[in-house]
Amino acid sequence: MKHPKTNQKNVTSCARLKVGEGYISGYLSIFFALVSFGGVLCFLFPEILTTPEYRHNYPVEILRGVLLMCLLFSFLFALVSLILCKSKIPSLLATVISGLSILMGGATVEIKQFNDLGFYVSLDWLLLDLLVLALIFIPVELFFPKRTNQSKFHEEWKTDLIYFAFGHLLIQMTAVSVQAPASYYFGSLHLEGLHNFVQALPFLIELPLALLVTDLFQYSAHRAFHRMPLLWRFHAVHHSIRAVDWMAGSRLHIIDVLVTRAFSYLPLYVLGFSIEVFYMYVIIVSLQAVLAHANTRIQFGFLKYLIVTPQYHHWHHSDNPSAYDKNFAIHFPFIDFLFGTYHLPGDQWPESTGLADTSFPKGYFKQFAFPFWKNPSDQQDMKDPSQR
Ligand SMILES: [Zn+2]
Ligand SMILES: [Zn+2]
Repeated sequence: MKHPKTNQKNVTSCARLKVGEGYISGYLSIFFALVSFGGVLCFLFPEILTTPEYRHNYPVEILRGVLLMCLLFSFLFALVSLILCKSKIPSLLATVISGLSILMGGATVEIKQFNDLGFYVSLDWLLLDLLVLALIFIPVELFFPKRTNQSKFHEEWKTDLIYFAFGHLLIQMTAVSVQAPASYYFGSLHLEGLHNFVQALPFLIELPLALLVTDLFQYSAHRAFHRMPLLWRFHAVHHSIRAVDWMAGSRLHIIDVLVTRAFSYLPLYVLGFSIEVFYMYVIIVSLQAVLAHANTRIQFGFLKYLIVTPQYHHWHHSDNPSAYDKNFAIHFPFIDFLFGTYHLPGDQWPESTGLADTSFPKGYFKQFAFPFWKNPSDQQDMKDPSQR
């Protein structure tokens, strides 16, 4: 994984959106319109578009309220964009989509009776997570960016959105695949005593313990993905991100996702953490993985030595040789410190990120196929890390 200097200007040359031009409100109106449309579809076809584990616990009236708010915001931002923006296309498009959602039932859409089909795509999870993350990270990256010339609409944002969407829609497949190895190898062991001991721990001890053991396993898998040529084929996809931001962090090859998550799941299964801790772990790891990639200069003070922050993980993506194979942890930097892979030089950030290999394929499907037929370590500009 040799990363000669990347030309960041090529990556970030797309102009940042400016407040007051009407484009931000235009794109926001389309965003809220699409979330509303997807939400109505979830109400209309819950058996195929919602996740069974979630759907039985949803506070439906609250979700209807969220849907109504999304429709209102869509029309509000469309109006602002109509007034401010030279182009009327974003506001008109958002109005058409939101209008369609209302015609289909809007926030008062009825839920029909249905039977579980056994298979589904998790559109509900995609919409809810996208909504929450967008509400947190779009303002953060808009008002407190680290790389001020890096636009959200950079060259590859559509690719990253596809990764984000597939990663959420297909959680049925990934959840089954991730849990299968643990139950196959350890399912016959009778570990009830151990599980009882772990679950009897106070929540504030059990949760950090879960984060620690999963991060140790994640660290091992991540380091292996860097050191082993066969695995690096797949992980190189993640390091092909040049404009690192909250959405781009989703760019992971499915093999990378399955192996890393299966490995991280092992200690959770064997030690038998309580379901509350498991769900809290899932929320924290999802949020921290997104935060770690965010393009933000927000300072974390002394916390940056205790938890993984954007500055810390951006160094992992650096194309500077001094930072190769550093900062593998996703929760606790001290794990890297213990194993000699810690790199956090003061308040400095990497000058540029990504792989310098310009022939690395772009687009979801090309990147999906690439590791199966081409070893990235064959590439002149992207040597295998073990051969450095
Ligand atoms: Zn990596
Ligand atoms: Zn990353």
